[in-house]
Amino acid sequence: MPRNVHPLSAALDFTGRTVVVTGAGRGLGRTTARMFTEASANVAYVSRTPHADVLQEVEARGEGAMFVAADVSIASDVRAAFARIDERFGGVDVLINNAGIAVRATLADQTAVEWDEVMAVNVRSQMLCAQAAAPLMKRAGRGRIINVSSIAGRDKSLLLGVSYSTSKAAIIGLTRHLAAELAPAITVNCICPGVHWTSMLRQALDEERETALLKKISVGFIAQPEQIASVIMFMASDCAAYMNGAIVDVNGGVW
Ligand code: NAD
Repeated sequence: MPRNVHPLSAALDFTGRTVVVTGAGRGLGRTTARMFTEASANVAYVSRTPHADVLQEVEARGEGAMFVAADVSIASDVRAAFARIDERFGGVDVLINNAGIAVRATLADQTAVEWDEVMAVNVRSQMLCAQAAAPLMKRAGRGRIINVSSIAGRDKSLLLGVSYSTSKAAIIGLTRHLAAELAPAITVNCICPGVHWTSMLRQALDEERETALLKKISVGFIAQPEQIASVIMFMASDCAAYMNGAIVDVNGGVW
């Protein structure tokens, strides 16, 4: 059961701001995109797959939301996506680099092809989206980039494989570098979520693993995506103006 779900969307107002969320087709990305629309932002839902329910959600929001089909690991898709978003909303204020894939292979099972795919989707995509968003943010004189890493990037994955942990650690390096390179107009921060209920987690978790995992989480429960997205919204808000290059753990206290 969710505990203490207090979406900041109720308190924060993003009227007039354009927010791009990658991997907005489901899970954390979808929740984050929805919460930004509730906070009156213009939201670009970037997703590889045009899920019918997401298209409905976007349509219901009217002028304030758009769906953009793109594979964010492909440079030409990313360039085309940001050109469309710029045309529609006249700029980008916030980029949430959320899209990611999870792979369980251990070192012995890891293929080079799958390794490259994980790096392309989890890391290259974040660089490509930052590269496309930065000129639009500089044009406006301000911007926020929030990169979604993982508790796996801080330490090691509790559930997934070596490529996942490595890709999530690389996102921390990307964040630290871009925070220095893009300042002062653009701030770049990173969130390292712990486990939260999405299809990515459901695929990685059976009952035995869930029991073992819960023993490691000091607050004693697995998060709802809203509890991660609320921190993302805070990091994108004016409240976080003095935060740059920060790596923010939101994991219920895993030691
Ligand atoms: P999910 O699998 O439910 O959703 C991921 C989304 O990214 C999907 O909509 C998928 O279609 C999209 N995506 C994947 N590859 C893409 C590509 N090449 N181009 C465009 N979109 C693509 O996963 P989630 O649990 O919502 O995870 C979101 C982020 O949070 C990921 O970066 C993940 O690594 C991170 N994370 C998740 C957990 C967790 O417990 N669920 C924990 C820590 C970090």
